[in-house]
Amino acid sequence: MAEYETVIGLEVHVELATKTKIFCGCSTKFGARPNENTCPVCMGMPGTLPVLNKKVVEYAIAVGLALNCDISRYSKFDRKNYFYPDNPQNYQISQLYMPICTNGFVNVTAGEGSKKIRIHEIHMEEDAGKLIHDDEEDVSLIDYNRAGVPLIEIVSEPDMSNAEEVIAYLKKLKTVIGYLGASDCKLQEGSMRADVNLSVRPVGKKELGTRTEMKNLSSFRAISRAIENEKKRQIKLIENGERVIQQTRHWDDKKGESYSMRSKEDAMDYRYFPEPDLMPLIISEKWIDEIKANEPEMAEQKIERYILQFNIPRYDAEQITSEKKFTEIFEETVDLGANPKKVSNWIMGETMRILKEEKDEPENLNISPKHLAKLIEIVDNNTINSSVAKDVFLQVYKNDVDPEVFVRENSLAQVSDAGELEGIILRILSENPKSVGDYMAGKKKAIGFLVGQTMKATKGTADPAMVNKLLTKLLNGYGN
Ligand SMILES: [Zn+2]
Repeated sequence: MAEYETVIGLEVHVELATKTKIFCGCSTKFGARPNENTCPVCMGMPGTLPVLNKKVVEYAIAVGLALNCDISRYSKFDRKNYFYPDNPQNYQISQLYMPICTNGFVNVTAGEGSKKIRIHEIHMEEDAGKLIHDDEEDVSLIDYNRAGVPLIEIVSEPDMSNAEEVIAYLKKLKTVIGYLGASDCKLQEGSMRADVNLSVRPVGKKELGTRTEMKNLSSFRAISRAIENEKKRQIKLIENGERVIQQTRHWDDKKGESYSMRSKEDAMDYRYFPEPDLMPLIISEKWIDEIKANEPEMAEQKIERYILQFNIPRYDAEQITSEKKFTEIFEETVDLGANPKKVSNWIMGETMRILKEEKDEPENLNISPKHLAKLIEIVDNNTINSSVAKDVFLQVYKNDVDPEVFVRENSLAQVSDAGELEGIILRILSENPKSVGDYMAGKKKAIGFLVGQTMKATKGTADPAMVNKLLTKLLNGYGN
């Protein structure tokens, strides 16, 4: 069998975090009652006219700048004609001929090293409504709240060759756009949607194979499985002497397979033409400069600042800046006077571990910096030991409890009063004559069991180092 390589390009739709829709004043707020956020414009009533939301353009330019794009000084909107019930105008206002950003790139780290993924273009467009199919009543309902919500579509060049690179690229987009505050980029909630264009070709061949486009990929895991599956499907077709057909495929993550939705259409199928209701967009150098000047501190800048200002290792700085939410917790906790390296340890250690275990998203984290700082303080002053601290942290993570109150209410404070601890140890020794005998007979390892018993008797709250020291002292004095 010939060796094949996979060629992948991505079309990523991102819902922008504007307060109002792209061409009318309706709210974009998520979770409203069906059709509450609608007006004649976004319902596509005849005779209405769109008015472009300036903030959409600003966000698109900001994302373009952050992704190293050229910003078009002259850009236009086009009509993409198609009929579907979720699209009341029977056309979507988009940009085909003169998109706002072109020619960008982003560097991602995947596998061995860094890879440059080129960005062909970014264009602005409006989202469609949502159809809700009610099987019980055998009807379909339409909710136009999403119709007219602003989107940018980021189109990459086919520069990726496996799922790892695709996910690294999407994470990078998510981080950059998250830092800009242009979107929260949640795959699960649909504020970021990725369509994967994939083809295979024998290694060494220049010409691209026929590609398919996969839709409905709502998690990194689904993306990864869909890529693997589609790659195998195409190779099998070619090996069997069949043809890969250019088509749009729907990924069913439950079944772990894709099926054909429709033959892939080309731009000509949509009868695009310049949008007659909107003026061309002329963007001044001054405006671009203003947006550039207002760019918030991005991950790369934060990494350098953290190393310099807080003296934490580069690795820590890179980990923390991988998510905007981590940087917020980090900076605010350090602002409250906590030791930066200790804050970083809690974020890189327990926070990331629990996030992974619970399959949570960092943006949903509910750890208040005040409580994290307090936890670090009571570990530092030996109120609790480090293993109790992990239990307390779990409570801070899950319920954002006040560590001091939680420790007091659950009697978790460390027993570090030597007199009290000595009393407990003496009791343990008298209850465990065999272990004491073993120790006296030279089996020094027997002390481990006695440490364990003491920790158990104090419900894990004793200072382990102190227990060890006291036990050794008492045992050595025992025979005398
Ligand atoms: Zn509206």
